[in-house]
Amino acid sequence: KYEHKRKPEWLNIQVKTNKTYNRMKKMMRERGLHTVCEEARCPNIHECWSERKTATFMILGDTCTRGCRFCAVKTGLPNELDRQEPEKVAESVEIMELKHAVVTAVARDDLDDGGAFIFAETVRAIHRRMPGTTVEVLPSDMKGDYESLHTLMDAGPDIFNHNIETVRRLTPTVRSKATYDRSLELLKRVKEVAPNTPTKSSIMVGLGETKEEIIQAMDDLRAHDVDIMTIGQYLQPTKKHLNVERYYHPDEFEELRQIAMSKGFTHCQAGPLVRSSYHADEQVNASSAQ
Ligand code: SF4
Ligand code: SF4
Repeated sequence: KYEHKRKPEWLNIQVKTNKTYNRMKKMMRERGLHTVCEEARCPNIHECWSERKTATFMILGDTCTRGCRFCAVKTGLPNELDRQEPEKVAESVEIMELKHAVVTAVARDDLDDGGAFIFAETVRAIHRRMPGTTVEVLPSDMKGDYESLHTLMDAGPDIFNHNIETVRRLTPTVRSKATYDRSLELLKRVKEVAPNTPTKSSIMVGLGETKEEIIQAMDDLRAHDVDIMTIGQYLQPTKKHLNVERYYHPDEFEELRQIAMSKGFTHCQAGPLVRSSYHADEQVNASSAQ
């Protein structure tokens, strides 16, 4: 009965903005920084920036070497690296008084280390300036290069997040270059390098997957020791991107969340507007309490 094809009313959300938000936005532009919150026009931006004190920075430029068919980030030849970026991000975290900072990046397949060094420097810079702020990293699969993974993990991020994005069958259609198994393997490796660091992964639903496939993805993540899972509705960023096959009802998300919890995840966020970084601040606490 939930076979919604048209965008349902629970997704018609007005993005609220206020003075704090406008001030933060200006600060980002002055420093040449990018946030997923803005680029993806995330509907949670007011809640995250002003109330929950969390934001997702996108480092290493605004142009990606890959072109996943769900993603609004532009593809092309990447910009020059900004060596000052780690300090600029840390400074913004301080000005925004963030409690939890998520750092993600475009895939930089053009760089030998995939950008791991600057990524690691960003984690260090935030920890130096804001010792009480937790830092979650959300890298690409780093081309499956474990030396790069070590470089990043040496910086001591508080959560390691890497998204499988969708179920196994749909991965080749949805993602570019990344494979389902390489992503799972990366998550597993984190546990070998840093057994106490919580790992996390997300999927989008509404791309044509079945419930059985979603449950299989949960089992696959658990088999690779992933602690936290998030599940959100896929929304088509532009007409050129993949179509939404189906809108899930909030009750269905709740059912999926309960199934995930029964599989042994320490935390699961599931809902129409849930994004990989949504309520991430709670997850640090939930995991460290285990
Ligand atoms: Fe930013 Fe994530 Fe919050 Fe959206 S859910 S506003 S992307 S931190
Ligand atoms: Fe978007 Fe990441 Fe895919 Fe690049 S690798 S296109 S940033 S999802």
